[in-house]
Amino acid sequence: MTGQMLTRNQCDCTTEPDTNRTDNPLGEAHIQVAEWRLNKVQSPIELNHDDSISHDHFEPLQFHGHWDTHGIANFTNNGFTATLRFSDKDHMPYLKGGPLHDDEYVFEQLHFHWSEDDHSGCEHIFEGRAYSMEAHVVHYNRKYKDFQDAHDKHDGLSVVAFFLQASGDEDNDDFLKLSTAASDIISINSSVKVSTECMDWIKESAQCKGYYTYQGSLTTEPYTESVTWILYPKPIQVSQEQVASFRKLKCCPCNEHNIKKNVRPLQTPPEHKKLQIVYARSHRQSE
Ligand SMILES: [Zn+2]
Repeated sequence: MTGQMLTRNQCDCTTEPDTNRTDNPLGEAHIQVAEWRLNKVQSPIELNHDDSISHDHFEPLQFHGHWDTHGIANFTNNGFTATLRFSDKDHMPYLKGGPLHDDEYVFEQLHFHWSEDDHSGCEHIFEGRAYSMEAHVVHYNRKYKDFQDAHDKHDGLSVVAFFLQASGDEDNDDFLKLSTAASDIISINSSVKVSTECMDWIKESAQCKGYYTYQGSLTTEPYTESVTWILYPKPIQVSQEQVASFRKLKCCPCNEHNIKKNVRPLQTPPEHKKLQIVYARSHRQSE
């Protein structure tokens, strides 16, 4: 393992690879992942770069089809969060590589966490800092029949998390497709069709070569410890109004109460469980 300091809140795309390595770094990464998959913990957790194990030679995490334009996407208020799902089962995006190695993880849905203010709407905490929102892109392992079948298996799920930080009134243009659609799903169980290009706002972050990964749990019921978490530390900038549009969503049929906060508190691992967070970096660009 080789370690290198990372400036807080920066992704590490510009770091030159260590091309002089002669051992088998991919094999080492594989063993490490196999080890921490047995070391389970409840999520969310606080991430600190100094407490994580840096690993410079992970295979790149590959996003397949997340930016394609097949089919139709639906954005729904389910009373707890806003959820994006795709309807074209034949062209479902999938993940592979990185800590997932050759297993393919199929896109299930994307949803958001937020809070009453712009400083506490994320679930994971990075270097002591909280952000305005956290987006979770949920995938299930293709070797299982579907999400339901996969959700309680140790290698069943992978969730890619992105932080969003609200500041000022400058909209993130790519995020407008969803933040605008949020105003069409104010009522509980309402749904609106959106362009399948509505995930473009995560594209830049998803192509960063450095991310944190650990084995944890779902942060909503049934809290199964089946999630390979992949977290990109650099927050995506959006406007305050874009975040505010999610707080207008209603959580009950009477239309009186808003979804003010849908964040699970930090979970502290038990003393006897050593938490292993890997800072994974690849010297090849993700696709
Ligand atoms: Zn979530």
